[in-house]
Amino acid sequence: MNQISHIDVEARVERFRQDCRDAGLSLTHQREIIFRALVEMHGHPSPESIYGVVKRQIPAISLATVYKNLKTFIDHGLTREVSLHHGALRLETNSAPHHHFVCVRCKEIFDIDEELLQPVELRRTLPDGFRLQRCSVEFQGLCRSCGKPSS
Ligand SMILES: [Zn+2]
Ligand SMILES: [Zn+2]
Repeated sequence: MNQISHIDVEARVERFRQDCRDAGLSLTHQREIIFRALVEMHGHPSPESIYGVVKRQIPAISLATVYKNLKTFIDHGLTREVSLHHGALRLETNSAPHHHFVCVRCKEIFDIDEELLQPVELRRTLPDGFRLQRCSVEFQGLCRSCGKPSS
């Protein structure tokens, strides 16, 4: 499905460098490798799977360090996490606006194109003090393989 080209990766790493500067984050070699590993992956990887890729380049790195850096990226808006419904952090690799379909059986998360939905709008304004950043709709159900009738 959404195959990421090499150019996209380079453009996003370049953007990341700029975003780090803007956020006042020091751009370390380690951070760049972690970010690159993330954008080269597909779907919604866990910190553990990102760690698996990063470790090939920085063998001495710990999972805790990768996790901490990913949290820093999220806190500074450099990357997004998928809504925390299953108690585990999952990172977003698709930078285009989209929604999610979560399989209730295998917990796999699928991207749903924004165009598939009517625009989502608030009927009333949010309570005082709330600031909306983005809107993401989650569909739940069975994916193609889990929905197959069992023989
Ligand atoms: Zn499934
Ligand atoms: Zn997604």
